[in-house]
Amino acid sequence: MYFERLERALPQVRERIQRACERAGRSDADAVTLVAVTKGHPLEALQAARQVGLQVIGESRVQEARAKWEASGDLSLEWHLVGHLQRNKVRQALRMFTLIQSVDSLRLAREIDKEAAKTGRPAEVLLQLNASGEDSKHGFSPEDGLEAVRVTTELEHVRVIGLMTMAPFTDDEAVLRGTFRHTGALFERCRDSVEKFEGRHLSMGMTNDYEIAIEEGSTMVRLGTVLFGERPQ
Ligand SMILES: *Cc1c(COP(=O)(O)O)cnc(C)c1O
Repeated sequence: MYFERLERALPQVRERIQRACERAGRSDADAVTLVAVTKGHPLEALQAARQVGLQVIGESRVQEARAKWEASGDLSLEWHLVGHLQRNKVRQALRMFTLIQSVDSLRLAREIDKEAAKTGRPAEVLLQLNASGEDSKHGFSPEDGLEAVRVTTELEHVRVIGLMTMAPFTDDEAVLRGTFRHTGALFERCRDSVEKFEGRHLSMGMTNDYEIAIEEGSTMVRLGTVLFGERPQ
């Protein structure tokens, strides 16, 4: 079921990514990484993703990811954490995830630094911005973003390779665009003024808004529903 759905959906998604790139005058649609967000879906969704050649998997919760990670036994996939991480789960998270996209506090960043020191491999992270200012969302406020990047890039065992944000859930295009534009502007400021910031990724865009996010400079979209359908859980 997941495979058939994905086989149908993926070419359409790729086409939309391509067209959004063209509208934005961006030449290379391959420069947009597609993260297949399998949270809330069973292992079958992940296997379907792999079958159609998607290699980057996004999960929101350490526990759920771990069950799939162990069951899949697949080392060729790249796992990204896109949900809030509790500090007591950092060690486990570092074993599975090659990128933690959701670093939303300095305390968490310091804990990641501490645990990564023990693994002997620096942890790659994105800082999450709460660009819309909603209480329900995690992340640094836009005002604190630059300083947070400065502080976290100084951590010895953490490499900050970009920013991530979630737009509010709305169909108001102006609001979505504004959120992404704000985050994009901060991304550029960080690149210009924080030497150790490796601004490789601007992770913006979900099912509801990924085309707008790409028009506003996203290099990484995180897609669940459009690929796998509504989440059953
Ligand atoms: C669930 C989730 C997604 C995927 O959302 P869809 O709307 O299903 O595409 C992307 N990013 C984050 C941070 C999420 O929690």
